[in-house]
Amino acid sequence: MSRIEPQPGILEIDLYVGGTSKIEGVSDVVKLSSNENPFGYSDAVKTAFGRAGHALHRYPSTDHAGLRAAIAEVHGLDAERIICGVGSDEVLQFVTQAYAGVGDEVVYTEHGFSMYPILAKMVGATGVVVPERERRVDVDAILAACTDKTRLVFIANPGNPTGTMVPPQEVARLADGLPEGAILVHDGAYTEFVEGADGGAALVEARDNVLMTRTFSKIYGLGGLRIGWGYGPKEMIDVLNRVRQPFNLSTVQLEVGEAAVRDQAWVTKCRTDNIRLRAWLADALAEHGVVSDPSSANFILARFEDQKEAEACDEYLKTQGLIVRRVAGYGLPNCLRITVGDEPSCRRVAHAIGQFKAGTR
Ligand SMILES: *Cc1c(COP(=O)(O)O)cnc(C)c1O
Repeated sequence: MSRIEPQPGILEIDLYVGGTSKIEGVSDVVKLSSNENPFGYSDAVKTAFGRAGHALHRYPSTDHAGLRAAIAEVHGLDAERIICGVGSDEVLQFVTQAYAGVGDEVVYTEHGFSMYPILAKMVGATGVVVPERERRVDVDAILAACTDKTRLVFIANPGNPTGTMVPPQEVARLADGLPEGAILVHDGAYTEFVEGADGGAALVEARDNVLMTRTFSKIYGLGGLRIGWGYGPKEMIDVLNRVRQPFNLSTVQLEVGEAAVRDQAWVTKCRTDNIRLRAWLADALAEHGVVSDPSSANFILARFEDQKEAEACDEYLKTQGLIVRRVAGYGLPNCLRITVGDEPSCRRVAHAIGQFKAGTR
């Protein structure tokens, strides 16, 4: 028998399943399965990308000073307390690696983002799954699940795949109620889709136990480039920087990220379009008898009668060249998560679901 064995927990990891992007034999496919920005990225970003391609023989900066300064300026934050990662996933990994290990508990909710259990297992920690209340994060249930072994509590707000949101005063109550030594990780991957939301920044300023994470993958339309960032107390960011590789972000990521964050007009345009199209899509689905909770993100969690109907609808959508996301793995077998696309895509998916419903009734 081989004595070569991985660390505890590693073999329990189920690999992350990304949204599908192809259907066999169908060419005109609309991908609504990964919450990508249907409008892509702005012209300013394209220009920066071209420019960044000219200095690839140089190592990138290790301190990300330019990108951090731009983020700090745009969001009114302290650049010293920002850390950048290869997607916000990497920042989530830093905090897990640095603060949790064997014997510790990592708390997340029933329908929480699927990276949280993966990260807990990666460090050999014990994942603690807390029930939600009607697809909403339940602060009291989380607080009740915390023990003196709790090191991290993950919530995405707005949530993925639920799209629901916990109001700031509830998040503050959660942070205040955590046991000593536990960190609240407030994952703000969809913050920009909410007018006026700060992603938890004010909470970070007021307390020493909150880390906020943000991403360029969703509203900025840069999922393929892999840039994210975190904001936390100085001591915590200093710790995270010790487990970060010095050259984790390439020259291209740093330069393009800086251009993207400085182009807030693009963010505003995409938020406005998303709010309008999301409302249209939710109404259109409701007219066909497919309900959803009010979403604060760039997708809708469409609820069907049962798992059988959700799966049948997914199969039908595929025949129509429409790819949405099954979320049985998130404890939501009767639902499909549908990204809000551009207007033609929204019309196509609403029309197809209407046809599906008409056929099954
Ligand atoms: C998409 C997403 C992320 C991370 O995305 P990155 O591309 O790694 O920045 C994190 N949390 C949630 C809830 C997400 O939906």
